[in-house]
Amino acid sequence: MSGNTNVTVVGGGYAGVMAANRLTRRDDVNVTLINPRTAFVHRIRLHQQAAGTGEAVVEYRDVLAEGVRLVADTVTRIDAAGRGVSLASGGTLGYDHLIYAVGSGSAAPEVPGAAEFTHQVSTLEEARRLWSALHATPSSAVVTVVGAGPTGIETAAELAERGRSVTLVCGAELGPYLHARGRRSVARRLAALGVTVLAGPGTEATAVTRDAVRLRDGRELPSAVTVWTAGFGVPDLAARSGLSTDAVGRLLTDETLTSVDDERIVAAGDSAAPSGLPPRMSCQAAMPLGARAADTVLSRIADEPPATFNQVFGAQCISLGRDAGIFQFADKYDVAVWLSIAGGPGAKLKELVCTGVVKQLAKEAHRPGGYRLHLLTRGDTRRRLLRAA
Ligand SMILES: Cc1cc2nc3c(=O)[nH]c(=O)nc-3n(C[C@H](O)[C@H](O)[C@H](O)COP(=O)(O)OP(=O)(O)OC[C@H]3O[C@@H](n4cnc5c(N)ncnc54)[C@H](O)[C@@H]3O)c2cc1C
Repeated sequence: MSGNTNVTVVGGGYAGVMAANRLTRRDDVNVTLINPRTAFVHRIRLHQQAAGTGEAVVEYRDVLAEGVRLVADTVTRIDAAGRGVSLASGGTLGYDHLIYAVGSGSAAPEVPGAAEFTHQVSTLEEARRLWSALHATPSSAVVTVVGAGPTGIETAAELAERGRSVTLVCGAELGPYLHARGRRSVARRLAALGVTVLAGPGTEATAVTRDAVRLRDGRELPSAVTVWTAGFGVPDLAARSGLSTDAVGRLLTDETLTSVDDERIVAAGDSAAPSGLPPRMSCQAAMPLGARAADTVLSRIADEPPATFNQVFGAQCISLGRDAGIFQFADKYDVAVWLSIAGGPGAKLKELVCTGVVKQLAKEAHRPGGYRLHLLTRGDTRRRLLRAA
């Protein structure tokens, strides 16, 4: 064994890969990334994977630094006291520092019938299953998408643009995050694609059967394929390992992203809850959180005080098929403002974001320490206000 410091990153999504790459700044750090698959899943393209308009799998060799050891396995337990993790394959692995970046997946739907009769698009396997289900169904059959957040809107638009007959069940409002002006623009695009949008009181799905979706107002919508996009959940690994979590199951940390239970464990991405006030679950937050988590560990190794988390959100970007999109700007409190870029330019911006994310990871792999978005100061004001509230 060398005198090097061993850092284990659990989860090879946006946050985990960013963190692992950044940790290679130091030659005396051995970085191990544990992830169930041997390829990176570019989740923000999963609706395209399901519709057959894009590929969400990226080879790790294209985004991961050469110095990172990739272990294809699943962590089943973290032993904080013993500084080790148990693997599904049966082995264990010790660490000096651990970065917890297990991300998110679909929330278990509680509506009767939803677990049995709906598809989801949160993981690669789910997206591939939805693609197969769509291919086994006549193209004229109705597809119902439940949930009108960004994932639901993107999925509905992508499928409608491919000629599917789509109903979007909003439950309440279409795109709750959007400014009214942006929402109108999205509604126009969905109408042009032929999507039936059911929004407002009474449109909450209350039951799902093999071939229908029932709404609270009593309507029963025929549905050959139903896609459930209402909400994300997180893996229960932290809770199962006896670590403190928020109510959803994200690892509870301080503002340096350090676990409130153990200085050797740092969290990033969708599975982190800094001060119990997690930022919006997004790739947009996962990348800077990954960089911050790595910096916290590097500071500890250097015996320096780690800096605090500082999230900057400026927008939400939603694709509306391949030909249109919306880039909805937000203020420093992550509240949508009147300004948005829609249509073809919106689609181009969204595509720039999707390709840019992979490029940023690759850049950090080749020049660790180059990523700087988490060092902007604007987000700090918002965190201070949130904590004071
Ligand atoms: C269809 C779709 C579209 C989206 N579009 C956008 C968008 O446009 N913009 C945006 O900002 N966000 C978007 N998101 C959300 C975004 O994908 C997530 O917020 C983001 O993936 C979170 O990154 P992460 O690194 O925290 O986790 P993930 O990307 O989920 O990665 C976590 C990794 O950890 C692995 N893992 C889990 N458990 C274990 C374990 N026990 N042991 C080892 N490894 C484990 C997982 O397999 C996975 O590889 C979209 C999501 C979906 C589903």
